[in-house]
Amino acid sequence: AAKAASKGCYRVFDDAMDRREMRESSVRVELGRAMIENQFSLHYQPLVDARSGAFESAEALLRSQSAALRDVSPFALIATAEASGQIVALTDWTIETALAAAARLENAPVAVNISPVYFRHPDFVSRIVDQLLAARVSPELLKVEITEGVLIDNLDSARQSVDRLRELGVQVYLDDFGTGYSSLSYLQHFELDGLKLDKSFLRSVGDRRKTNQIIRSMIDFGHSLDMRVVVEGVESDWQARLLQMLGCDLLQGYEIGMPMPLDDLMIWRAGHDATQWQNPQPAMRDA
Ligand code: C2E
Ligand code: MG
Ligand code: MG
Ligand code: MG
Repeated sequence: AAKAASKGCYRVFDDAMDRREMRESSVRVELGRAMIENQFSLHYQPLVDARSGAFESAEALLRSQSAALRDVSPFALIATAEASGQIVALTDWTIETALAAAARLENAPVAVNISPVYFRHPDFVSRIVDQLLAARVSPELLKVEITEGVLIDNLDSARQSVDRLRELGVQVYLDDFGTGYSSLSYLQHFELDGLKLDKSFLRSVGDRRKTNQIIRSMIDFGHSLDMRVVVEGVESDWQARLLQMLGCDLLQGYEIGMPMPLDDLMIWRAGHDATQWQNPQPAMRDA
């Protein structure tokens, strides 16, 4: 009976695997179709300066109009595109589109998420240079967001890429910071423009005082390495106020502004009242 039961388990497992593989391959096909048919768009989420309250930049986030991909999260889309290699063409398109947005936003940088697969592409930096030249956009108006894994995997080549980008003037931010690795020693090999603390820090359900201490320590840590610190996932007014008191540099989250089409962001910016997010006590951490 035990054998039969375990055999039964295997069957269920196999079916689940088959379904997942089928789903992945159909997502892959739909992804290719969506790329050909121009069914992707970018939404832009504003970041504001935690001191002045002013609009500082926008993060480009992938969205799909294709009905077949409607229920597939950006996260799953990216994973499939990475596995299939489609991520290279998709990221080329993303950078091109985001740079056109930066040109329209005039003097506000746009941030693009760079998949590890794209970052490790041997032509990574020259592809970015080509794109900047083609778009005639100043490198200062591009931020790239990378994750810890790409830095740790291959310290030497990752440092070369990061340094070359920063020499050009492109800003490099470390995304989802604090979710992956417990060791921070790899950071001694890099100079980066900023850290983005993952939104899970604000979601913690434990001891409020401890949570605040941890966020404060992360912010101080970023500053000690000359980085600007963004906290993402700001969903309430009190969180924004708290982060200002803790010395956070940039705020991002639904409470500040949702990810939205570029036209909507232009309207959002035109109506943005910086005093709403101005830090009432800017001197508190300066003293
Ligand atoms: P991310 O880079 O950390 O982007 C922030 C994510 O948090 C976005 O999810 C955004 O919509 C969401 N978010 C923003 N504010 C809030 C908030 O206040 N509360 C909550 N709960 N969420 C908030 P999204 O758009 O679903 O993207 C998920 C992830 O997919 C991104 O995380 C990024 O890792 C990846 N991704 C998105 N677009 C691209 C892309 O063009 N290329 C690559 N390689 N990855 C992308
Ligand atoms: Mg990001
Ligand atoms: Mg993030
Ligand atoms: Mg992420």
